[in-house]
Amino acid sequence: MAAEIDVQIARFESFFSDHSASLNGDLTIERLCEFGWLLKPRRTAVSLPVGKSIGLTLMGITHGNEWAGAAVLNDTLSHIAAGSINLNLPVAFVLGNPWAARQNKRFLERDLNRSFARQHPRLQEERRAVELMNVLKRTAYILDFHQTMRRSDRPFFIFPYSVQSLAFARQVMPRLTVVTHWGKPFSAEGMCSDEYVISQGGTGISLELGQNGLDPYQIAVGVDAALWAIRSAAMTCAGDEGSLRRRVSSCEADLYTWASIVPWPQTGFVELIEGLENFREVRSGERLGVVDGQPLLATGDGKILFPKYLTRQQQSQQTSRPTEVLRIMRPLRIEELPTS
Ligand SMILES: [Zn+2]
Repeated sequence: MAAEIDVQIARFESFFSDHSASLNGDLTIERLCEFGWLLKPRRTAVSLPVGKSIGLTLMGITHGNEWAGAAVLNDTLSHIAAGSINLNLPVAFVLGNPWAARQNKRFLERDLNRSFARQHPRLQEERRAVELMNVLKRTAYILDFHQTMRRSDRPFFIFPYSVQSLAFARQVMPRLTVVTHWGKPFSAEGMCSDEYVISQGGTGISLELGQNGLDPYQIAVGVDAALWAIRSAAMTCAGDEGSLRRRVSSCEADLYTWASIVPWPQTGFVELIEGLENFREVRSGERLGVVDGQPLLATGDGKILFPKYLTRQQQSQQTSRPTEVLRIMRPLRIEELPTS
């Protein structure tokens, strides 16, 4: 099975070596880091925000077992090579954690998407985060592609709320559900890629395409999002947001935030009932499973996000115990969002 991701990783690397001559008419190629490349238009009227030299970063396999992101980047590159989209600003293409992807693992030593801006980087993913931070620091916009462990009834955006990040998500895919949060970081473990870009004055969003695997529908959604991210970032940087406003204003997207996070217990086992998938509706008091011998009840009405089903064997290894069991989301009204 791992061969499929090997093909995608090889396709990614060979794109930049094979095209180093043929793309050169309009674009230059610059190597940013391992599995990180910048495509830069030779001539452009678009000027980037002060301090930024990368207009957009498209990133995939930040989590190694979420392979669709690599295919999305490769298919987007094919569109660029075919000339079906113009690049008016420098766009970086980054495979976050191909080493974990080759083993079909979320990470090898530490979750890369909780490893940005950490003190004393030591573990493999912490060192990779340091390399990527050099790219992300320079990045005005990032779209990071992810997939969920369990099924989802839809693709959805997830990111820390800011006026700019919500506007960017709506421009990229106006109809897509947005899950957002503010006030506290996504996870107590460390910073995500989008959080890091935001902390450096950029705009960051992540897109969950659906359950992990190389699903053609999900890849098509991702490519559509990538192409619109390129257009939106360029048009916004050029101050030409008029047509984007028309694209966004005719569509209503569902907004959610989480009302509660169920932490993974210190000891014992978690057993969830079957069928808890992303966006599955739950009622307050509904039995969701058993945690350490005690019933786990929904703390409110809402929808399930990121349920973690782990075998007893996985749970008995300290290193593979996650920090949380699931989240419960509630609908969010736009008026509830902070104004600054
Ligand atoms: Zn992920």
